[in-house]
Amino acid sequence: MQERNVSPNNFEQCIKCTICTAYCPVVAVNPRYPGPKQAGPDGERLRLKNKYFYDENLKYCMNCKRCEVACPSGVKVADIIQSARRRFSREIPDLRDRLLASTDFMGRLARPVAPLANAVVSLGPVKGIMDVMMDIEKAKTFPKYQRKGFVHWFEKEARRSQGGYKKKIAFFHGCSTEFQHPEVGVAFVKVLNAVGYGVELIDEKCCGVAMIANGLWNAAKRHAEHNVRVFGEVVKAGMPVVAVSSTCAFTMRDEYPDVLEVDNSAVRDSVTLVEKFLFGLVDSGEVKLVFKDDYRARIAYHVPCHNEKLGWGIFTKALLGMIPGVSLTTLDSNCCGMAGTYGFKKENHAFSMEIGRPLFENIRSVAPDFVCCECETCKWQIEMCTGYQTLNPILVIAQALDFEATAASNK
Ligand code: SF4
Ligand code: SF4
Repeated sequence: MQERNVSPNNFEQCIKCTICTAYCPVVAVNPRYPGPKQAGPDGERLRLKNKYFYDENLKYCMNCKRCEVACPSGVKVADIIQSARRRFSREIPDLRDRLLASTDFMGRLARPVAPLANAVVSLGPVKGIMDVMMDIEKAKTFPKYQRKGFVHWFEKEARRSQGGYKKKIAFFHGCSTEFQHPEVGVAFVKVLNAVGYGVELIDEKCCGVAMIANGLWNAAKRHAEHNVRVFGEVVKAGMPVVAVSSTCAFTMRDEYPDVLEVDNSAVRDSVTLVEKFLFGLVDSGEVKLVFKDDYRARIAYHVPCHNEKLGWGIFTKALLGMIPGVSLTTLDSNCCGMAGTYGFKKENHAFSMEIGRPLFENIRSVAPDFVCCECETCKWQIEMCTGYQTLNPILVIAQALDFEATAASNK
């Protein structure tokens, strides 16, 4: 098991270089935000003396973790900030924050009336009312809910055939695959089956990332404890837990212990992302991917902030690079500005657009056929702000894969 030798609150390791502040996308656009050094290690010293040093402007941190990636001293800057929010904030999440945080509850509520719900929330006057009454930014468009989710497809089309595979993985599909993008889950199952792996669904709960962002700490902790318990049974049965969203994977590996103080040490290293898992299989020679001869695409790959923190963008790049007809451009390292639910909030909208601007300009200059990234909220922001279709890499792999030849090569 990989050792984690960094304490969640290691503010004393700070050497005051201010590199984190130079890399923070929020401090560059929002004068109210004190910045990672001041909000993190510097502020922590003061807060330890007296909790009244806590500054409510810490809520402007997007928890993108870019400061942690940049810090040469390994300070868990964003964890320190999130932990301070959890311990000291006196702000109580309002109705808007609760609704934005409850991704699975909202999905279950909207699903039976999905076409109507989608139509209503996209009407100009309704957006205007939500903007005025709830501070939900009217310029933003909500992703569309689907009438039938991924699990419905799986039970109907795939469940029975999974028993035919000796090797198995547990799939953490997440809320967006279930409620908005079931095609991502379908692609996942088809690709995994083609390389000889059966897929099992588990009793998962939302990873909790939106609850953390919106200050619903107790609910996030309950979700984390539930998932860790379920993963424990899965790992005992010899299966890894494989996700398609880099933010879900990151949250379940690192936010559970570092922000929510939920011990996941028994399962952490078994929680992975499909691109890392698949690359490992190909790299070790265990499986072979055979791609269509006639697949052609010019792809711009955006590494989401949480995948930069995981350091796993290399696996997606390597997999996409294996597709013979793909011309791949990796975009410059920039935050899209959405940060889950952050960009939907009226008070953050202008900052969100300004943060995302370099990424949007980079995409336009590359002018790809489509953009590719592992995070659903980056997808929403990029599609809204550039008009470029943005696909999860597993969808691209499924589009390009010769399923018959791949399955035959992995018998
Ligand atoms: S997590 Fe992101 S927004 Fe928050 S301080 Fe670090 S770099 Fe800035
Ligand atoms: S980058 Fe790290 S060491 Fe430098 S000021 Fe920020 S937290 Fe401190």
